[in-house]
Amino acid sequence: MSKLYIVPTPIGNLKDMSGRAVEVLQSVDLILAEDTRTSGKLLKHFEIGTPMMSYHMHNEHKSLNKIIERLWSGQTLALISDAGTPGISDPGFLLTRACIENGLAVECLPGPTAIIPALVISGLPNDRFVFEGFLPVKKGRQTRLAFLRNETRTMVFYESPHKLIKTLTDFKDHFGAERRISVSRELSKLYEETKRGTIGDVLDYFQEGVIKGEFVIVLAGSSSK
Ligand code: SAM
Repeated sequence: MSKLYIVPTPIGNLKDMSGRAVEVLQSVDLILAEDTRTSGKLLKHFEIGTPMMSYHMHNEHKSLNKIIERLWSGQTLALISDAGTPGISDPGFLLTRACIENGLAVECLPGPTAIIPALVISGLPNDRFVFEGFLPVKKGRQTRLAFLRNETRTMVFYESPHKLIKTLTDFKDHFGAERRISVSRELSKLYEETKRGTIGDVLDYFQEGVIKGEFVIVLAGSSSK
């Protein structure tokens, strides 16, 4: 029966691939992959021979109808991204919405995403939190930061290595050097590291070294103790 499966894939450690993720990817008619070369390696590792079609931010609008038609014809499809859970700062939202609007079944397997481990090991309150994804690079950046100034919940951001210092510096300006923060890099990988402290301390720490890897920033809310 037709269905779209959203399938999370490891964010660094192949052992985090679930047995069900492998089973679903083996059983579907087609895998929609953000980068077929990157995902090709993953599929090869798990001996998954299912055909792939590329589905990424540059073609997600124009390929929607074709994908919906495939589902209407009774096919089962799986969507994967380069790493983690599709739809979380990755393509997936448009297709999920289109399936729902067309009365088609969608299922998301639980699995790897960088948000949760970074939040949980931050030591910051996690009973309530907001996911902010990537901050706007230019337009809207200052407005977004100003909007978040009085946010009381813990905030989670994604960041690339070359923008980390700029973002921590902006945080210092907007939230103050004493606000608590936790920065995790290379989660589940060999050089996994988490630096916790005040924004001022963590900024000093990263300014002293070479900045490499993928980062999640977890920032305390304004009323956090
Ligand atoms: N869909 C993914 C997820 O569920 O986490 C996120 C994809 S987004 C394009 C990539 C960003 O996720 C990176 O820039 C980084 O902020 C974060 N990320 C992904 N893998 C990570 C890892 N192993 N360690 C730390 N951050 C990671």
